[in-house]
Amino acid sequence: MPLQFINTAFENASPANWHIEDDGKAATVELFYDHERDAPNRAAGHWHLRLEGEPGTAARITLKNFDNVWNGKHGSPISGKTGCFVSTDGTQWRHIPARKTEDNTLEIDVTLDAGQLYLARIEPYRISDLENLLAEICDHPLVEIKTIGNTVEGRELELVRVGREQTPNRVFLRARAHPWETGGSYCVQGLIRSLLRDDADAKRYLETYSVCVLPMACKDGVARGYTRFNVAGMDLNRKWAAPADPRLAPENHALETWFDEMIDSGRPIQLAIDLHNDEGGKLHVSRPEENEGPYLADMDRFERSLTEHTWFTEGRTPLEFRNPGSFGSAMWTRYRVSGCVLELNCNWIAGLNKPPFGKDWERLGEQMRDVFLQYFADATPSLR
Ligand SMILES: [Zn+2]
Repeated sequence: MPLQFINTAFENASPANWHIEDDGKAATVELFYDHERDAPNRAAGHWHLRLEGEPGTAARITLKNFDNVWNGKHGSPISGKTGCFVSTDGTQWRHIPARKTEDNTLEIDVTLDAGQLYLARIEPYRISDLENLLAEICDHPLVEIKTIGNTVEGRELELVRVGREQTPNRVFLRARAHPWETGGSYCVQGLIRSLLRDDADAKRYLETYSVCVLPMACKDGVARGYTRFNVAGMDLNRKWAAPADPRLAPENHALETWFDEMIDSGRPIQLAIDLHNDEGGKLHVSRPEENEGPYLADMDRFERSLTEHTWFTEGRTPLEFRNPGSFGSAMWTRYRVSGCVLELNCNWIAGLNKPPFGKDWERLGEQMRDVFLQYFADATPSLR
């Protein structure tokens, strides 16, 4: 048979049912939804599969189950702009086209040159990739890695600080609140590596600020190839208006505890960014209901600096945009930290005119060094 097997039993693979046609030249893959607790919402938009068969096999793969439910409404996580990444070895990726059909499936034509081919929505970033990064940086004198808690399944949640404990300013970034969204992982990896380069520039940045990173919030979901929710059915970018339930969302509870500790120790975070992927790529600024203080001015400054120093061109949500319960909204209302959600377009980078590879998001992270430098340099003493 040309196409023989679809492997879903490796790290970060998507759970799925599948069926190969008798001629071995086509297959249908039914992705599993992950589901939100106590809500009708469900999500499937992640795929990471390994096709196995005779070398040279050409096959049409049809992906199904994109009938997502969000806020009780049906919607699709794919569009005419959705493409696919493929790799023979799971390391070197190429971008190929995909076709969204009228019945909301995705058709992808592939060739198994070497007898196997990985398929993924965007370049995967696995727990083992994070472990390699942590092993690479852990002995650096300007790095502190500490475990601030555990996931529902007991995986350790590492908080990485790059820079000295006492610095004039502190930035926080979170990646992988939603497990499929690997853009944030590449972005923080690029930022961390660039700050640790042994050159005069890196020293200049770290005199002004330190960077604290929660690099993989929904680690259980990453391990299991989930799309959006943690394994207890919680969305880690929702319900931030009140303290998290330590049993159902220990990933958020650990972060809240850490935020409180930073405030109590006189070292509060000043700028917090939650990194995501979607099909729009905008900066999401959720306007507070009251007591706006310097928040909107801070976000203006952040957007300006981001646009000036990086390839980001997608702009931001309208002034009246409100998303209560999201991370960005809660940062200001609960902690008086200027926080936002930065979505990275999963299909296309307008500023570079190309599909997004992991390297492009790493470059964004590297460029963020200058964003933060300017953000803090231009800050006027606030009234917080
Ligand atoms: Zn997200």
